[in-house]
Amino acid sequence: MFAYLDHNSTSEPSILVKEKLISLLSQGALNSSSIHSKGRLAKKIIEESRMNILHSVQANNDYELVFTSCATESNNTIISNFKEGAVLCSAAEHLSVLGPVSKLANHYVIKVNDNGHINLDDLSANLKKFDKKQKLVSVIFANNETGAIQDLKQISSMCKAHGALLHTDAVQAWGRIDFSLNDLSSPDYITISCHKSGGLIGAAAIIKKKKAPLLPLIIGGGQESGFRAATSNLLAIASFGEVAKNIKSIIAEFQKTQALRDFLEEKIKKLRQDVVIFAKTSPRLPNTSCFAAKGLSQELQLVKLDLAGICVSSGAACSSGRIEPSHAIKAMGYSNEIASCAIRLSLGPQNTQAEIEYFIKHWEEIACQ
Ligand code: PLP
Repeated sequence: MFAYLDHNSTSEPSILVKEKLISLLSQGALNSSSIHSKGRLAKKIIEESRMNILHSVQANNDYELVFTSCATESNNTIISNFKEGAVLCSAAEHLSVLGPVSKLANHYVIKVNDNGHINLDDLSANLKKFDKKQKLVSVIFANNETGAIQDLKQISSMCKAHGALLHTDAVQAWGRIDFSLNDLSSPDYITISCHKSGGLIGAAAIIKKKKAPLLPLIIGGGQESGFRAATSNLLAIASFGEVAKNIKSIIAEFQKTQALRDFLEEKIKKLRQDVVIFAKTSPRLPNTSCFAAKGLSQELQLVKLDLAGICVSSGAACSSGRIEPSHAIKAMGYSNEIASCAIRLSLGPQNTQAEIEYFIKHWEEIACQ
């Protein structure tokens, strides 16, 4: 048997996306910057995707969308605009936010609680400390490791009170839970991408308020209204648009994975009562479970599960194949020892009860010898 339980890393392209791509591939050369008929066709496909994506988060006319190549680029671009100002981000951010923020002269990493939610007193105190004209607060909406969902309402009003702009990385939330920009208290910037929910790797977006500043990170031919140069990745963008067009049914499919996730957590807790399930008391993504049992290293679990054909990841899956204790879990107050035992299962619409039972059988062999 084979079980792919790593959808927060990337997901299989959906059938709708595959069909769309096959039809596009038969159209031949498509560069949206060309002014001839093929170029105009490509442009039309890209603009349809843009509209569908904006519609998927109920963006009003105050917002615009810039396509990028990946969420890492989106996050880096936004943060690079605040080099002269100050950026505050949470300690549980993805490394594509924490990395560029840590390079800035004026930055602060906001403490989080044991669910990974930011400490509002720490945010408020540190927003007061920076007397810069431009301030940005960057807070992840749904955590990629634990699935914890953050309530952005109070964060947003605190940003407004201190004249700071708000960015949220909603990469893991888009396609998994239903939300509008209004539900997120209308942030100034949001990052989303499509490869976690059935689209291709190679396209992501910055959705921004038109009045929020954005200088490009990649400069060249002036594509994307000058916000991001380079020939558009038509196939990936078309797949993004296709996911957006079907967002309601994709979310419904991901919501169904919660029953399997809850079944899994109940079983592992029975097998090892000392299991820690991270962010269990927080609202969470329906498909994500991150847990640790003391003395059971990430390496041992990942290798043995892989030998049985089961794909899971350590908490921090995006770290180029490295296995390291997760910075996010440590920031939540857990010891290095527990953090180095954490594994993450992230389910997708294709997963079955039989696959979860297969995982449980193999995990029991590793955890209960
Ligand atoms: N932000 C979050 C929350 C993520 O989970 C990821 C990837 O897992 C990224 C950003 C970076 O995405 P990418 O590697 O596609 O650029």
